[in-house]
Amino acid sequence: MTLKKELSFFEERQIICDACNLFYSKGWVSGTGGGMTIKVNDTEALIAPSGVQKEQLKPEELFLVKLQHNSHWGIEIIEKPENKKISACTSIFTNIYKERPEAKAIIHSHSINAALLTKIVKNKKVTFSKYEMLKGLQGGTYFGEHTVPILNNVESECDLAEAVEQIVKEYPLSSAVLVRDHGVYIWGNSYQQAKVHAECYDYLFEAFIEEQKLKALNLA
Ligand code: ZN
Repeated sequence: MTLKKELSFFEERQIICDACNLFYSKGWVSGTGGGMTIKVNDTEALIAPSGVQKEQLKPEELFLVKLQHNSHWGIEIIEKPENKKISACTSIFTNIYKERPEAKAIIHSHSINAALLTKIVKNKKVTFSKYEMLKGLQGGTYFGEHTVPILNNVESECDLAEAVEQIVKEYPLSSAVLVRDHGVYIWGNSYQQAKVHAECYDYLFEAFIEEQKLKALNLA
């Protein structure tokens, strides 16, 4: 491995640690919940481990997996950190990478806004329009409509993998999948875009909830 490649490899690991620390401060990965992955090349991705305090994550604690399988048990682990368990999100992440080959990073957030919104919306999707923050989403416009699918939660997160793969196919314009009472998966074509998407979606989720409260008071 060349020095340049080594540096780049370290940078991607550090980005995940810094991102998890930042997302912890936003309440997206608290209580060891949530997750994060970055693709290091077309066939390999780094993934934060399961059950760790994400704000204390270290670069050497990340899993490196091969992106060639789509089932949880079939995933090939290239690097396994000592005493760490692979994330239950792994097969969901790899299925999203499979369906969106252009995606470079995926954030799994346990944001309270995502969880609450799915308690209000009983449908299998939610549509946003007329918010300036829509412009931060890929293909998003102020006057246009942007729809995000909602899946029902299951007891074991890895059991969502096939449903996520299917719904990502059905909603090609969305860069997110909400999971009812649980959270959201959000991706982007770079880490920076995934972060911007996560911030814009969370703003839209919170705005939606606040709008419903105002509507209940006949104020919106
Ligand atoms: Zn989760």
